[in-house]
Amino acid sequence: MSRNFICELLLSLTPSQYRILNIRFDGGRNLYNACLGEALKRLAAAKRSSDWKKAAGLPRCKERTGLFRNALKEHHFSEYELHFYVKKLVKECWIGDHIDSQVAQKIATRAFQAVDEYAKAKRGNPRFKGIGQFSSIEGKSNITGIRFKNGKIHWNGLVLTPIYDTKDIHGVQAHALSQRTKYVRLVRRTVRGKFCFYAQLVQEGEPLIKKKNSLGKGKSVGLDIGPSTIAVVSEENAVLQELTDCEENHKKTKKLQKALDRSRRTTNPDNYNEKGMPLKNKQWKRSGRYRKKQAQLAEEKRVTAASRKTQHGTLANQIFSMGTTIKTEKLSYKQFQKNFGRSIARHAPGMLIEILRRKAENAGGQIIEFSPYQTKLSQTCHACGNTKKKSLKERWHVCPCGLESVQRDLYSAFLALNVEQGVLNRSQAQKAWTSAGPLLQQALLRCKETAKGKRKLASFGFSPSQSCSPDEDESTVSEDKETMRANVYSFEELDRLVIRTP
Ligand SMILES: [Zn+2]
Repeated sequence: MSRNFICELLLSLTPSQYRILNIRFDGGRNLYNACLGEALKRLAAAKRSSDWKKAAGLPRCKERTGLFRNALKEHHFSEYELHFYVKKLVKECWIGDHIDSQVAQKIATRAFQAVDEYAKAKRGNPRFKGIGQFSSIEGKSNITGIRFKNGKIHWNGLVLTPIYDTKDIHGVQAHALSQRTKYVRLVRRTVRGKFCFYAQLVQEGEPLIKKKNSLGKGKSVGLDIGPSTIAVVSEENAVLQELTDCEENHKKTKKLQKALDRSRRTTNPDNYNEKGMPLKNKQWKRSGRYRKKQAQLAEEKRVTAASRKTQHGTLANQIFSMGTTIKTEKLSYKQFQKNFGRSIARHAPGMLIEILRRKAENAGGQIIEFSPYQTKLSQTCHACGNTKKKSLKERWHVCPCGLESVQRDLYSAFLALNVEQGVLNRSQAQKAWTSAGPLLQQALLRCKETAKGKRKLASFGFSPSQSCSPDEDESTVSEDKETMRANVYSFEELDRLVIRTP
């Protein structure tokens, strides 16, 4: 399979172009909703058929699959038939003046996939898109529909001018533009309360890797990714740090959310029960200030997401400069999410793994994930081979065999580096320890230094004694539970509680 990469360009638009694009995005949204409704209708019809009912009673076998397939076919539930539907639809209404058949087909495909995955229980009930919720439109090829030609985007009478990076110091853009364009996607995002349009050129080949992000080709690194921290260890270097630093943004978001809650409560006092819980099926009034604050919150969330993405990118480059073969435990991010919900949403460790995977593909490296149940890295001691379960708040590896105590995440990353074919190679780890031990200590010192002045992350566990005294050690788990509890009561409720106590 040939590789693709994306070159994103902000579009500079005239007011009329801006208006037309918004109309087209809304047309696209209407098409999507129509296709989604039609696909859901066809699926429901198929589910009512006798074939389906018969199949549902059977155990997994060829006959069962065949019956399901028949039921779906009979009720025209397929991507191909949905293309027919959308073609007819576009011809008959105003959207046809704005959206060409290729773009319409892609929209139909998207709607079909959503319903198809829902039918296969791979994901939840697909949602219809509200105004402003439809954010991307793409073509099928660079020949008709949305095209990139002579440095401009052409689409059905519109000629849009992208804003290029005129400096392009590293030549990344020049390289990207020299590649063949497969198709073009237009993306609409809300930036500072206003829509901005971007063109994403889907280019054939591989992106240029900046010189400063040189690769540690042929070398290996061990990774340990926690809900909010990351430890990276190679033969020559070790790093321990927070996954992303978004504490400030997080504070702002929370402040806005609380303000919104207060406003909602004052404008809709009848919509809550005596416990202060919001009631269902009520009309909600929103004040002008509320709407303004809401827009601010959306903007804050966008900025946070963007900053998180850049931070992850930088981190990924740092990891690749240490080595291109990445060894790490395979983590269930769903499980992670259950246990550390808020922290995960803020630090997005799964996203980092995805970025690493994509970059590894381009850099000729690989990610080796092994089962944590077999290797038990967080429990093992490489010196004596003993395994002992650690609780989450034990942030240090301490072993009675006399091995000096080591920060837990760094130690796990070191062990990951010494995993071969899914098993910890203990003799290799013992040999490597003489040089790795001091590296890990240095990494911890550096981490302490950068954390100075900032809120100290309890999950690092800066001193070995910390692991023993539970009252001092606030692990990230308890911290997140605390924030959850705080969210249960609104400020007003707290005030009331305060007044009542004499
Ligand atoms: Zn030991």
